[in-house]
Amino acid sequence: MSTTYAYAASDATKPLAPFEFQRRAPRAHDVQMEVLFCGVCHSDLHQARNEWKNTIYPVVPGHEIVGRVTAVGPEVTKYKVGDLVGVGCLVDSCRTCSSCEEGLEQYCENGWVGTYNGVDRVDGQVTYGGYSTQLVVDEEFVLRVPANLDPAGVAPLLCAGITTYSPLRTWGAGPGKKVGIVGLGGLGHMGVKLARAMGAHVVLFTTSPSKIEDAKRLGAHEVVVSKNVEEMEAHVNSFDFILNTVAAQHDLNPFLNLLKRDATMTLVGAPEHDHPSPQVFNLIFKRRRLAGSLIGGIAETQEMLDFCGEHGITSDIEVIPMQKINDAYERILKSDVKYRFVVDIDSLRK
Ligand code: NAP
Ligand code: ZN
Ligand code: ZN
Repeated sequence: MSTTYAYAASDATKPLAPFEFQRRAPRAHDVQMEVLFCGVCHSDLHQARNEWKNTIYPVVPGHEIVGRVTAVGPEVTKYKVGDLVGVGCLVDSCRTCSSCEEGLEQYCENGWVGTYNGVDRVDGQVTYGGYSTQLVVDEEFVLRVPANLDPAGVAPLLCAGITTYSPLRTWGAGPGKKVGIVGLGGLGHMGVKLARAMGAHVVLFTTSPSKIEDAKRLGAHEVVVSKNVEEMEAHVNSFDFILNTVAAQHDLNPFLNLLKRDATMTLVGAPEHDHPSPQVFNLIFKRRRLAGSLIGGIAETQEMLDFCGEHGITSDIEVIPMQKINDAYERILKSDVKYRFVVDIDSLRK
């Protein structure tokens, strides 16, 4: 057991505050790491405030983790002390169901174990995430971090990166495809960078006119202010795929109308309250599809990290000390972050 310093929420209405607990000693297949950086996902905020109605308190959020290996269990073969590694949203799954066998652990039929707010399959303890000084994770759920990338900028790839990479790959973003990304936040800005690197024609939809220039710098070929009806009209029936990352309830119809026949809009945003049902006729008459997608499996997460290494892609970040986390949450709610907060975990060691 080792003493770990962290920040936790003790209930839905209280700010996050210092919290101390014991991490388990590494089991045979475990990797122990000192956490260096942890990204701040909007999911952390949803979860800390119990917006998904399943939070177990106290909750230590954080699932965009980069760390350095400090110890390994006796059966570990993939990592050694000193390696720079990543951990995302998953730390275990049943490993035997059809989804796990296909490398889609995030759709485990028997329930995957979240990096936080999960229940460990061996000891039944609630998992605590990366807003903490150290982490112990089975090697099968640990990722290799490309050596050429800035470790702080890599952290958000572990959730924002894979959550956008996976649907972009699944729905074939690439040369000759017109791809829309809705929302320029943590997920959206990674979606723009990744879709551009995949070779698609990228259109970013935003509610924030102040983000237009940034969106172009990040790789969007075109930017549409989604509240502007005329700008939206110009794109009717023209998209092969739209990835919707918006963290709040909104009307989906204006975006569905932009899809070509047979094209898909995939939701990754997970708001507290569901969107109103879309108009059925607009789906029927163009055989349009509305889909969802959850993070990505371990193999695909490694593929995404390697892709980012090859293309020199990291997240645009604002590094903060842990002590600023509650301010950061308020700024996320105002869409006032460019484009991901990353906590420097050294701030917890002082
Ligand atoms: P974020 O950084 O807060 O970005 C969300 C963006 O949505 C904002 O930057 C804003 O973009 C837009 N937006 C916010 N409120 C809006 C509103 N009322 N109407 C229209 N647009 C609005 O959040 P994030 O970390 O990227 O996460 C986005 C969502 O994905 C969250 O719900 C999160 O829980 C979820 N998520 C899902 C998965 C998954 O596996 N499916 C994984 C990770 C996160 P503009 O200013 O450009 O409009
Ligand atoms: Zn996340
Ligand atoms: Zn499974």
